[in-house]
Amino acid sequence: MTQRVAADEALRVILLGPPGAGKGTQARRVADVYGIPHIATGDIFRSHVRNGTELGQKAEEYMSAGELVPDEVVIAMVRDRLQEEDAATGFVLDGFPRTVPQAQALEGILADLGQPLDCVLRFSIDEEEVVRRITGRRACQDCGRNYHVDFDPPPQGDTCSCGGKAVQRKDDTEDVVRNRLDVYHRQTEPLEFFYWQRGLLRDVDAVGSVEDVTKRALGVLAEYVAPSEARP
Ligand code: ADP
Ligand code: AMP
Repeated sequence: MTQRVAADEALRVILLGPPGAGKGTQARRVADVYGIPHIATGDIFRSHVRNGTELGQKAEEYMSAGELVPDEVVIAMVRDRLQEEDAATGFVLDGFPRTVPQAQALEGILADLGQPLDCVLRFSIDEEEVVRRITGRRACQDCGRNYHVDFDPPPQGDTCSCGGKAVQRKDDTEDVVRNRLDVYHRQTEPLEFFYWQRGLLRDVDAVGSVEDVTKRALGVLAEYVAPSEARP
């Protein structure tokens, strides 16, 4: 596998893994270390739902059933987002792509922008742990930060460090989670082969403390691009 190791390059990475694997938690940390945007399609949809936009209305029924929003809707949204100025310095994609057509579309978008992907981190974790993580998840309604009632509770009751309210997502109930996992196996897991074939897939053991998983993820990413504070 060829790897790019250069201190002054942008990092472009996808986090792949089942819902609840810790992608959002780790994406925020990686984005902070590298000074690049964390682009989470689920967060973008939830903000549209909260604001009652047309896109939010379209996405909501799929989201509450744990189904995927149609490819063309998601792809158009990501195309626009990747053209924003901050994404020119790199990005952490979280929750996209989730289907082979989305991954193919992403290849086209990045080719048009002249921005090659560095790698895809696959978060490995077993299903029961994922269910435990998701059913205890609380997400801040304002900044989107994720907490866990047992492993990482909000600093004060249900109040996020930003002052927003941390609540349970409607799609984080056990039956919707089981459906989301089923959708993941059928529609998203084929992406592992897709990216393996392209020499981009890297494994990260997602079991252990948040800190330990961050160390593993950053260890892999440093093989591609040095974090911003370590750049000359
Ligand atoms: P994803 O974005 O993959 O759906 P999240 O990052 O939202 O997953 O994590 C799911 C839940 O698990 C959240 O409640 C989060 O606080 C918790 N969590 C994340 N990483 C860990 C970890 N290493 N150990 C324990 N809980 C974790
Ligand atoms: P997440 O926050 O990543 O768990 O996503 C929450 C929900 O948003 C998913 O269950 C889907 O309904 C929808 N969603 C997010 N990203 C995508 C995507 N790439 N393709 C289709 N639907 C998505």
